[in-house]
Amino acid sequence: MRVEVVAVGTELLLGQILNTNAAWLGAELAAAGMDAEYQSVVGDNVERIALVFRGALARSDAVVACGGLGPTQDDCTREAVAAMLNIPLKRDEAVLDVIRSRFQRAGRPMPESNARQADVPEGARVIPQTMGTAPGLCIPVGEKALYLLPGPPAELHDMWERAVAPELRQRAAARGETASISSRVLRTWGLSESALAERLADRFRALEEAGGNPSIAFLASGIEGIKVRITAKGATEGEALSLLEAEEARVRELLGPAVFGVDGETIAEVVGRLLVERGFRLGVAESLTGGMVASYLVNVPGASAWFTGGVVAYDARVKRDLLGVPDGPVVSEDAALAMAAGACRLLGSEVGLGLTGVAGPDAGEGNPPGTVYVAAWGPLHEGQESGEGGDARLLHLPGGRQQVRELATISALDLLRRRLDSQVASRRR
Ligand code: ATP
Ligand code: MG
Repeated sequence: MRVEVVAVGTELLLGQILNTNAAWLGAELAAAGMDAEYQSVVGDNVERIALVFRGALARSDAVVACGGLGPTQDDCTREAVAAMLNIPLKRDEAVLDVIRSRFQRAGRPMPESNARQADVPEGARVIPQTMGTAPGLCIPVGEKALYLLPGPPAELHDMWERAVAPELRQRAAARGETASISSRVLRTWGLSESALAERLADRFRALEEAGGNPSIAFLASGIEGIKVRITAKGATEGEALSLLEAEEARVRELLGPAVFGVDGETIAEVVGRLLVERGFRLGVAESLTGGMVASYLVNVPGASAWFTGGVVAYDARVKRDLLGVPDGPVVSEDAALAMAAGACRLLGSEVGLGLTGVAGPDAGEGNPPGTVYVAAWGPLHEGQESGEGGDARLLHLPGGRQQVRELATISALDLLRRRLDSQVASRRR
């Protein structure tokens, strides 16, 4: 079933408010298994709203509009619908009573302009208001339906969940379409977008040839890695989910340890979870990131259970005196490892991270900007001095100072994640 969204409001066109309702409705429609092929934005103008509604109703099975139901003169969605369908607006006394009693409860007289919100196009069904003043409206147009919802997001969400989504599902079921869509995002780190695409190329092609269900897509938003979204459609939620899970298993196999988490999970959360599972605590020693790793970690609620603390060791003397970094270059693998081991000792943690490098824009110790060493150390068991050693990586990170520091932070956390994962795997072997 094709459902499209029309957002009404001149302030949306002018960029004064962001059209978050359309984004929200788009996600909801997908989750409900509806095909959303168009979205529009139109200003507060009777003729233009009518024109957009007419076009939307011609090509879709239902239209969900938001905004322009308020009491002010510029709010004219109701009038536009009445004009388009050539039906009168009738003041609904029951709706007016509800609006009036809302004002009474608030101890304020109802402004005369609010009475307009009780105007209902003939033949429309009222979606009762539970939060604001304007009710929603469902207007049948032949076999199709036009839903008018208020602009304020909380009111929109409430009416969508209470009245519109269930009715759209019913309509889809009546047409023999009970599709449900499920999707999941696999978050990756360590592979470039082209390397990812290469690994998935055959699978991608096979899915396309089989009709595109399930489907995979790459998303490169944000700094924390490249995302692979898997979407599956089924007759029921259970069917969509089992298709999705089977595909997820295949994709995970192709990507291996590059996948660090799913959906909204951050790498710091994943590291925290692994530490809790293994019963280890983490201490960090940071040079170029200057506390950014610690800051990422304490963003995770409950981090005190597994994060002991950090040392910002910026000056070479601090690296040597406090952390036991040996004489020699401080932008080096040895220095990063010594920092990670020093963090364990100094901060009483079983595992440690060390980061040293050149954030830029100038070179340091003859290394170009973006030269970074990250190291993970441990686990150090009680009474042990060296534990199971550590892993270190040399990175050549792109971008300016801030980006280099962020990429270094994520890379260090990823190194630890892989180390914790592989140690468990090797112990199982
Ligand atoms: P009201 O009764 O509050 O006037 P309304 O149905 O007339 O509601 P609008 O006047 O169009 O709706 O918008 C009211 C408020 O709702 C806006 O100021 C804005 O905060 C929010 N809003 C409207 N449309 C959107 C949208 N598409 N995305 C996000 N927020 C929106
Ligand atoms: Mg308004």
